[in-house]
Amino acid sequence: MSIAKNLELVRNQIADAAAVAGRPANEITLVAVSKTKPVEDIAEAIAAEQTVFGENKVQELLAKIPQFPAEIDWHLIGHLQSNKTRKVLPVCAMIHSIDSARLAQQVDRIAGELGLTPSILLQVNVANDDAKFGFPVGVVREEIEGLMGLENVSIRGLMTVPAFEEDPENVRPFFARLRDLRDELEGVAGKELPVLSMGMSHDFAVAIEEGATHVRVGSSIFGARDYSR
Ligand SMILES: *Cc1c(COP(=O)(O)O)cnc(C)c1O
Repeated sequence: MSIAKNLELVRNQIADAAAVAGRPANEITLVAVSKTKPVEDIAEAIAAEQTVFGENKVQELLAKIPQFPAEIDWHLIGHLQSNKTRKVLPVCAMIHSIDSARLAQQVDRIAGELGLTPSILLQVNVANDDAKFGFPVGVVREEIEGLMGLENVSIRGLMTVPAFEEDPENVRPFFARLRDLRDELEGVAGKELPVLSMGMSHDFAVAIEEGATHVRVGSSIFGARDYSR
């Protein structure tokens, strides 16, 4: 299968899931997760009209970005170490992985210094899984008012990465929980949090049924990753 064919298939599956949910398909942004993949693969996806890419490592992201046209949007979807913030902010369209109040404050401060207003998402550990990054649900509830008061960052919504489940139906409750939490936090904050970044290759259809606006899809587009290289 070619990357262009895979993309077409994924786009069709997104449209089908949106139709099931009674939502317009253009409400959903496909973030093509290109981590570990060579620039040739990304170029192939761009030729097939993919414009939004996700990377989980800052180093890799910074190496790839200059090789592509400025119109391409790059999203950071992996953990951000605070010493990398200054380099990432000028080149990222969105950071999905703000996982503590301390990091949000640091990003806000540096954004102010750089004169930027970055779009960020709060990563929430909805399953309270010790192996995952993200705000515990109770902590994001406590912190949300202070976070919404940050001057430079624009908090657009929430992101989650549930544990892998063979049957995607088993992660549906976690996606629903993120949506419910978003609705609750909007009430507390008095501001809209329109973005829900949830769903990966094997479960994005379920995530869309539960309200995802951004799905992060890697292997279904680019094939399995080889971490041995
Ligand atoms: C790797 C990754 C994805 C994509 O995973 P696939 O199963 O290959 O679609 C999505 N989100 C995050 C945070 C990732 O690190």
